[in-house]
Amino acid sequence: MIEMQQLTKRYRGGDVETTALNSIDLQIDAGEYVAITGPSGCGKSTLLGLMGLLDAPTSGSLRLDGHEVAGKSQRELAAIRRDRIGFVFQSFNLVDDLTVEQNVQLALRYGSLPVSKQKLRVAEALERLGLSHRARHHPGQLSGGQQQRVAIARAIAARPALLLADEPTGNLDSAHGHEVMRLLSELNAEGATLVTVTHSAEHAALASRCIRLLDGRVLVDAHADLAS
Ligand code: ADP
Repeated sequence: MIEMQQLTKRYRGGDVETTALNSIDLQIDAGEYVAITGPSGCGKSTLLGLMGLLDAPTSGSLRLDGHEVAGKSQRELAAIRRDRIGFVFQSFNLVDDLTVEQNVQLALRYGSLPVSKQKLRVAEALERLGLSHRARHHPGQLSGGQQQRVAIARAIAARPALLLADEPTGNLDSAHGHEVMRLLSELNAEGATLVTVTHSAEHAALASRCIRLLDGRVLVDAHADLAS
């Protein structure tokens, strides 16, 4: 599903250049559950941002579903993101002025579904996350755990094949954090490819594969022993 070859990302700030990712070779297959770990600043968020087409690499190749991403227009990239990729962020990224159902519907707004079908998808996603009774609330009226569930509902409303989560439990207490990880694991079990950045060894252990970065390189790429 994702193939990276010699993928490099450098940031230039004034005279200083930072190599956030240094010639990464990586392949992630459809249906995998991958945890990305490593110390702060090692390139985890940058890697997730490239996979999610939020940012462009400096050099190297990135293929999504067999198609090279380099050279695609912003419009094409936005369409791939909308149809194929769901994002969950540490900071939820909900719009406070909108209700819960309006927030979830945002994910479908520029797609091809008629509004009636959009509403059906929103209702399904909220039901799936146990939030139907909160549909008319605003994010500010909900707990952190509930807000992250709204963000997950938004991420899955378009039924994306790829779910990317950047420290999804970073702002949650441990009970809500476990709940969010359980939901993400379930979505993976139902078929979504899941890549999550985490600081938690416990959460990383839930994944079937753990990629540890150091200084913009892959230090360890370990598959859980599925036979045991
Ligand atoms: P992590 O997610 O592992 O903490 P990041 O991917 O955020 O690491 O960052 C990797 C490196 O790239 C760090 O040295 C960071 O300071 C640098 N970096 C990330 N984003 C930017 C940016 N927008 N501009 C300049 N440097 C950046």
